[in-house]
Amino acid sequence: MTGSSGGPAGTAFVDEPAPVAGPSEADWAAAVAAVRDLPEDPEVLLICHVNPDGDALGSMLGFGLGLRRLGIRRLQATFPGPPEVPEPLRGLPGAELLVPADRVYPAPDLMICFDAASESRLGELLGRLDTAGTSVVLDHHASNTRFGAVHVVDPAAAATSVVAEELLDRLGVPLDAAIAECFYVALATDTGSFRFAATTPAVHLMAARLLATGIDPGVISRRIFDTRPFGAVRLYGDVLGRARLEPASAAGLGLVWTYATLDDLTRHDQRPYVLEPLIDSVRCAAEADVSCVVKQIAPGEWAVSMRSKGRVDVSRVAVALGGGGHRFAAGFTGRGTADEVVDRIREQLDGAVISDDSEGCRPSGRA
Ligand code: 5GP
Ligand code: MN
Repeated sequence: MTGSSGGPAGTAFVDEPAPVAGPSEADWAAAVAAVRDLPEDPEVLLICHVNPDGDALGSMLGFGLGLRRLGIRRLQATFPGPPEVPEPLRGLPGAELLVPADRVYPAPDLMICFDAASESRLGELLGRLDTAGTSVVLDHHASNTRFGAVHVVDPAAAATSVVAEELLDRLGVPLDAAIAECFYVALATDTGSFRFAATTPAVHLMAARLLATGIDPGVISRRIFDTRPFGAVRLYGDVLGRARLEPASAAGLGLVWTYATLDDLTRHDQRPYVLEPLIDSVRCAAEADVSCVVKQIAPGEWAVSMRSKGRVDVSRVAVALGGGGHRFAAGFTGRGTADEVVDRIREQLDGAVISDDSEGCRPSGRA
């Protein structure tokens, strides 16, 4: 850390990280070869991160459908933890490839990981990295730890589906409506419906290719983003009603946060996935650069979502507390009470303020 200028006095600043290189031609070639050089009638296992979101499932299932087009028959898609797909994502094309984590091939010829920044995101499926013939990691997290054998990691990509689409193209698989729907859900999820700064011309060009297959963005967006049970609406009222604003936190840049308990879910008869959009409402608060939602997943255990509007690198905070993510959207699993978890975040925030507010302060908000 340096003490350079550009932020509130007396603050320790994060150095600007060097731009992280995207995949090389050798990386792409190795990924293509991993698929092309498979033995006769191979077993292929696709894995995305625990608690999968639209990019994790969309990139995995879209790519899986592409592998089907290549004639791969023995194909499974899975994710660690309870085999529950969030309701809005249940209708994704390719969902028939999904298999509970405890029923997957013990030693597949090829394993491909989607949207997982580190091994820890593979949970109980981590051991497959050792038993699989080979492994390919498709991802877009700058914090990716380069686990597995072949890495196609592009931190400049707005979503893992951007990487997955290019790999399918290099494998000679054309887009069809089913693949496109999966990749569209992934792209729309990670760009906040094309609102975040990660929404580059390349993102819109990809969206155009996907829409050209005939998929309906209005229908897809309503299903994925704008359809929740009425009980969830009431639950949002409770959780947002207890949000707290702390203007002095993050070296005076401000923190706004709230929490949701298992009891909140039970009281409103809701599943945990309904809590995911809450961070978007909390981060609206103009008075705070950093926002946070602390979601109870078990007694004494909380899934934490953090966002920054650009002056704070929340991935620094997340990595320091055992998690990861992007500079402006990150998370980790916290233990103790919600207050204790937020105490730990506060302690890390001052050291995560970004020194250079020209290049470094372009909020992406992407997940
Ligand atoms: P979200 O808040 O939408 O769940 O996650 C925001 C970003 O942080 C995503 O890129 C996600 O992959 C990452 N992230 C969230 N929770 C964790 C975690 O527990 N560990 C790691 N390594 N990354 C996380
Ligand atoms: Mn992603």
